[in-house]
Amino acid sequence: TGIPTATISRLVTYLRILEGLEAHEISRTSSNDLAERAGVTAFQVRKDLAYFGRFGTRGMGYTVPILKRELMRVLGLNQTWNVVVVGMGRLGQAIANYPGASDYQFQYVGLFDVNPDVVGRTVRGLPVRHMDELPEFVRGHKVDMGFLAVPPDHAQDAAQALAGAGVRGILNFAPTVIQPRMLERAGQQEISDEWRAVIVENVDFLAGMKRLAFYILNPHLNAVDTE
Ligand code: NAD
Repeated sequence: TGIPTATISRLVTYLRILEGLEAHEISRTSSNDLAERAGVTAFQVRKDLAYFGRFGTRGMGYTVPILKRELMRVLGLNQTWNVVVVGMGRLGQAIANYPGASDYQFQYVGLFDVNPDVVGRTVRGLPVRHMDELPEFVRGHKVDMGFLAVPPDHAQDAAQALAGAGVRGILNFAPTVIQPRMLERAGQQEISDEWRAVIVENVDFLAGMKRLAFYILNPHLNAVDTE
C-alpha cells in the first residue's frame, strides 16, 4: 500500500509551517491551525499524519518541536544526504551556490560536467569534475542523490550514468521524462535488487506555469486538494 505523493508534498509543507511557528516561539498547534496555514482541511492534515503514527493528543493538538522532529524523521531529514550536481551550467551553478540545502543535511559533495571549459573550475570550494570520474566518486563518497541539470537531450544519458554509478535518487530539472525502467537496468552486477531501483523526481517549473495559466483562466476549478 502506497502513500499518495500529495501527502508527502503536504508533509513538507507542514514541516515548513512548523519551522515558522518555532521561529515565532509558538509551541503548540492543532490540525485546524495547520490546515488553515497549509490551505487544506483539518481532516486532510489528520489523514496525512495518520499514515505515519499518532503525533498529537486528542483535543490537545500537537507540540510544535515534537511534531517537527517526527516529520523530519519521517522525511529522512535527520540524516546527512550526499548529493552530486550533474551539469554545471546556469542552473547547476545556481543550485551549487544556493546555501539553503545544507539546512536540511543535503551536502553537495561533487560537481560534474562534460564541457572542458567548465571541468576544472571551482564552484563554492568544489572542483567541477568530468563525468568519467562519476562512478568512482559515487562509490568513494557514498553519494545518495544526483541533481540533474543538463540539457533535455542529455538527461537520459546523464541519469543513466548516475544510476549506473549507484545513486539512489535523481532530482531531474531537465524538461524531459526520464525512463525509470531503463535506469533500473543500469546497476552494476554486485549491487542488490533493492539498490537497483532509482527514484526519479521531476521538477518542471514550466509545468507549474502551465498549471498556473489554466487556473488563472479557470479560477472556479481551483479546489482545495482532498486526495
Ligand atoms: P546550460 O546549458 O547552462 O547548462 C547545461 C550544462 O550541462 C552545461 O554546462 C553542459 O556542458 C552540461 N552537460 C551537457 N551534457 C552533459 C552530460 N551528459 N553530463 C554532464 N553534464 C552535461 O543549461 P541550464 O540553463 O543550466 O539548464 C539545465 C537544465 O535545466 C536544462 O534541461 C533546462 O531546461 C533546465 N532548467 C533550467 C532552468 C534555468 O532557469 N536555467 C530552469 C529550470 C530548468
